[in-house]
Amino acid sequence: MKKILVTGGAGFVGSHLCERLLREGNEVICLDNYFTGSKENVLHLLDNPYFELVRHDVTEPYLVEVDEIYNLACPASPVHYQHNPIKTIKTSVMGAINMLGLAKRVGAKILQASTSEVYGDPLVHPQPESYWGNVNPIGIRSCYDEGKRCAETLFMDYHNQNDVKIKIIRIFNTYGPNMNPEDGRVVSNFIVQALKGENITIFGDGTQTRSFQYVDDLVEGMVRMMNSRGEFLGPVNIGNPVEFTMLELAENVIKLTNSTSKIIHLALPQDDPMQRKPVIEVAFKELNGWEPKIPLEKGLVKTIAYFKGLLIKRGELTA
Ligand code: NAD
Ligand code: UDP
Repeated sequence: MKKILVTGGAGFVGSHLCERLLREGNEVICLDNYFTGSKENVLHLLDNPYFELVRHDVTEPYLVEVDEIYNLACPASPVHYQHNPIKTIKTSVMGAINMLGLAKRVGAKILQASTSEVYGDPLVHPQPESYWGNVNPIGIRSCYDEGKRCAETLFMDYHNQNDVKIKIIRIFNTYGPNMNPEDGRVVSNFIVQALKGENITIFGDGTQTRSFQYVDDLVEGMVRMMNSRGEFLGPVNIGNPVEFTMLELAENVIKLTNSTSKIIHLALPQDDPMQRKPVIEVAFKELNGWEPKIPLEKGLVKTIAYFKGLLIKRGELTA
């Protein structure tokens, strides 16, 4: 039985990861400050004696004896990470320093949840790991993008200087149950709007693209990366290479929810990347043939069912 720390474990991705790690017979410590995550996401795990929930902020040191650390703590949606940009970059940078310091002290292996945002508004398409990116260092997305880039640097430097066992994954847009309905990401926004019969808000003309990965595929990739051969550090892209425009996504969601919602267009936010699609050859080769298994439509059906249940429970929708 391994003892595993998951920072940001009460968030969308973290809650699925905690569940998976417990299912595999590990002991899990879930650390979160509940900024964008919630106890509800892990409520069903609280009865498990091998699960521990800790309220803590990763910008402060945390001491515990563990074998592995998955470092996920960081708000991921633009609305939330732009709410307090200084706190966002502190979370990425100081959080990485504190968790790497812990890994160094106790000899734990540590995985960083980095992001496709390190590629910024990419000039190379699709994006291989070797691409250095096109990031605005002083724009509204910089607190997140540059924080994550700096965290990658810290991970590599702790490895080179102190032999810390590190792994870096670059996650592309991921969706699924347990997403925060208020966090402003496109999949949750469109589904909630469609279910409530509200206007679907497309930012800009909707021709910008993203490649959407269902959360189970991501968690599989994360666990395989943690268990990959020691010399393989990454960074490795973990994402679904099937690319959609935001218009196509909106049409898909309207169809799958049988919604009467109309599409409206709002201003495109500053520095919004025009296109994004991962090259996943490295993941396939290094992570035993890892590739996404769940196509968008199938994943959307599961996610729609989740949000429907949530909105009914909240009294915002009738069954
Ligand atoms: P999320 O916002 O649902 O989860 C982040 C969790 O971190 C939340 O539970 C939040 O409360 C917690 N947190 C934030 N600041 C903290 C702090 N200072 N101390 C302790 N806990 C803190 O987002 P998510 O989608 O689950 O993302 C998880 C990780 O994966 C993040 O690091 C994110 O950058 C990365 N990622 C996600 C995506 C995606 O599409 N979901 C894409 C790229 C990268
Ligand atoms: N977006 C949109 N309507 C929304 C929310 C987002 O059209 O209600 C667009 C956004 O401008 C971006 C894409 O959807 O082009 C993905 O946005 P998200 O915030 O989910 O992720 P990110 O931009 O970080 O990839």
